[in-house]
Amino acid sequence: MALHQTNNEDALPFDDVYSLPISGRALPKYQVPRGVSDARAVKALIHDELTLDGNASQNLATFCTTWAEPEVHALMDECLDKNMIDKDEYPQTAEIENRCVHMLADLWNSPEGETTLGCSTTGSSEACMLGGLALKWRWRERRRAAGKPTDRPNIVTGPVQVCWEKFARYFDVELRQVPLEEDALGLRAHQLRDYVDENTIGVVAILGVTYTCAYEPVAEFAAELDRIQQETGLDIPIHVDGASGAFVAPFLQPDLVWDFRLPRVASINASGHKYGMAPLGVGWIVWRSADLLPADLVFSVDYLGGDLPTFALNFSRPGGEVVAQYYNLLRLGHEGYKEVHGACAKTAGMLAGKLRDMGPFTVLHDGQEALPAVSWTLTDPRNSPFTLYDLTDHLRRRGWQVPAYPLPADRGDTVIARVLVRHGISYDKVVLLAEDIRKAVEHLSAGPAAHVEEQPGFHH
Ligand SMILES: *Cc1c(COP(=O)(O)O)cnc(C)c1O
Repeated sequence: MALHQTNNEDALPFDDVYSLPISGRALPKYQVPRGVSDARAVKALIHDELTLDGNASQNLATFCTTWAEPEVHALMDECLDKNMIDKDEYPQTAEIENRCVHMLADLWNSPEGETTLGCSTTGSSEACMLGGLALKWRWRERRRAAGKPTDRPNIVTGPVQVCWEKFARYFDVELRQVPLEEDALGLRAHQLRDYVDENTIGVVAILGVTYTCAYEPVAEFAAELDRIQQETGLDIPIHVDGASGAFVAPFLQPDLVWDFRLPRVASINASGHKYGMAPLGVGWIVWRSADLLPADLVFSVDYLGGDLPTFALNFSRPGGEVVAQYYNLLRLGHEGYKEVHGACAKTAGMLAGKLRDMGPFTVLHDGQEALPAVSWTLTDPRNSPFTLYDLTDHLRRRGWQVPAYPLPADRGDTVIARVLVRHGISYDKVVLLAEDIRKAVEHLSAGPAAHVEEQPGFHH
């Protein structure tokens, strides 16, 4: 009997994922479907759709983790059901969060690392909100105690990430964003005195400016604010936005003084999911000492029998990222982070060298002394046959995601391109990228005729 002729009642129904009912039509977009579908088919179809996203391993725009060890995947899976807020039900996850806070306080040289306060957040944005709120509360207490008005708080910053614009708008604080000086990669200390006054709740110093990847000189800010205090009596604290840099500087630039070694630094935030190498969804904020976090910002949550202090904007939040952060701290230690970020800095330096050799570019940041990243401009944009937007567009054809963007407001005519090198972006991959940049420059410089010649059979 031929094999295909079967009356066998045990034969399985044909269940190829691409032949099931849900696979034979476009997936629903506007209404929840009536019925149930096959799990494997739904998974396969969503998986296929996600392949249309950019390839994260070629995403050189993001600061965020795009590669993790298998152990991190396993711990994340294990923690799928853990809610960070349920500290009473998951006391060990809460304990692990606390250990991370104290390890980071120590890493950032808090004089009271074992007793100071801090917490995990969804990312640096939430951490910055909490840091900003503590500054605002403390400023208001001082003003009230002095019998002075409290209706016009301001915060002084350089070219900040959008989360500070959000903080200012959501919490009614004037954002005094100091314009970038010609050739500056961030705020400069001498600019501060024209912007701070009695209503300044604090100065934000950025360790790893989003636009240029440079560190702002926190120690110089502190010294300038010391002088301003001597002259005017104003005692203005610093919050360091170390979203990227607070997980880089302690390992690659240990002698750089930017952290709680400076008494004026009141709080520091970092993104665990950037150079902390945890999966997406975790940030950190730590105060220099417990007294700097006003008590009435801390809520006592009486939940399922427990009575626990929390300071956060969210209630429920996943616990896995925090656990994975702890894994990374234990697994890598100082030496491991130094190895990983050091390799990235070396790769960034190589790319910077190749970009310089290509001719049309000026490298702004070469991955040394600050974040392992490269930012560059066109040396002579007016006479260039292409823009950086053309270049990054061209690179996209090979899947490379390299951003090009203008500097903030007053320097908006300067366009920058930027590449972040992180764990998982190998030296070899960046050699390939550099070669593609070289080819793109050649192609874009050749002018329109080159396009025609490239396409045999194309005639006007
Ligand atoms: C990324 C970044 C933020 C925002 O952090 P998220 O973790 O993405 O919320 C804030 N400040 C700086 C300097 C950043 O680089």
